[in-house]
Amino acid sequence: MSAYREGREAVRHKPFALLCAQCAQRRVVRDVDDTFACERCDLEQPVFAVTPRPIDPVTREWRGLPEGMAKATAEDLTAFAREMGITEPATSLTVACNGLDVVVEVATSSGHPIGVDLRVNVVGLPPVTLRVETEEHVDAKRTGLTVEVQTGDAGFDAKVFVESAASPEDLALTLASRAVRQAVVAVLGHVGSVELTELGIEVGLRGEGAYEPARLRELAAALRTIAGAPRVLSPSTEETPRRVNVTRFVLFGAAPIVLASLIHALHRYATFSVLIGFVAAGLAGLVWLALQPPLRRLVAGRSRSHLDFALLRGVLLGDLFAAALSALLLVNGAGDRSAPRHVELVAYEVDYDSEDNQAIVRAMDGPEKHRFSFDDPQRRIHLPATVTATFRQGRLGFPWQQGHAVVHWSSDDAKGK
Ligand SMILES: [Zn+2]
Repeated sequence: MSAYREGREAVRHKPFALLCAQCAQRRVVRDVDDTFACERCDLEQPVFAVTPRPIDPVTREWRGLPEGMAKATAEDLTAFAREMGITEPATSLTVACNGLDVVVEVATSSGHPIGVDLRVNVVGLPPVTLRVETEEHVDAKRTGLTVEVQTGDAGFDAKVFVESAASPEDLALTLASRAVRQAVVAVLGHVGSVELTELGIEVGLRGEGAYEPARLRELAAALRTIAGAPRVLSPSTEETPRRVNVTRFVLFGAAPIVLASLIHALHRYATFSVLIGFVAAGLAGLVWLALQPPLRRLVAGRSRSHLDFALLRGVLLGDLFAAALSALLLVNGAGDRSAPRHVELVAYEVDYDSEDNQAIVRAMDGPEKHRFSFDDPQRRIHLPATVTATFRQGRLGFPWQQGHAVVHWSSDDAKGK
């Protein structure tokens, strides 16, 4: 199948625009021919280019060191700047690449150079993030969770993951040129992802070798090629299905409700044993596992489905754990039929928590250690002291303390929990 044919099928007679490969003159295409002649430079060229046109960047503008910036900031870009004919310290160069400007500039963090950003300002491309395809992407596609636009170019489809809310037809058109697909693969040889937005394309090179002139040239040329890609005149986006929005709404909406219920249950019915937390985690985990397949089906079908799934199953786990723990605490406490046991315990230690202005009193109930806290801004509570409290067995067998404890010491009394 020829590249032209691939492209033509992607178009389906929708008018689109592209840029001349030599001078960047915009061209609107209504009926797809194999080739067209540029209105400005007369170059006869394929509509869907197979190979990128050679690009030799030429410096158009450059910016030296801003006032007060250390000279070292520009040193890293020196080799590239020199190749581009600039011998003074430069932090930014604008290079013309077949009629389009690509900005190559030192990226800094707190005044220190951390790499190079390359940017080409160009309008009309569909918003899309092109990523190095990972095992996670492959798995998500294999299981039917995530659906990605396939170009039919095996090399490209295996290496690049196309993540976008743009319609599949729009994306297929933009990726219909083999030259554009090759340029994307070239860019992803240097960076993990490249983002196309309505304002242009930007990539950030980081780490060792970020300043190598050969890499910067290759990237600038690749960005220029992508910038000239075919794009529809009236872009359309894929609507997020209602089922996905409803799922998000339910899971995120439940979070504050189950959290409030958990806070209430902990306040009234907290148990001495942390075991109840493990039981809640076990129950939540089982239900969570059982809900994976339906959740997967609810969010499936788009290029970002694997991201939605990862996020929403995290939220679901939090919701389920909070719900399970508050339910166990409520059943154990509010449903408790055991007789209250009033105890008077002898304290063996008093500490002060100066952040909360509380006295922390520790006492033994047989072999069991208990910890009580009382408001005590004036630090009056001291040993010897006793604590009276009401303990209950718990409907589910998790002992808990009913109501407030009262501490007694030699001079005064205070109430607390
Ligand atoms: Zn031209």
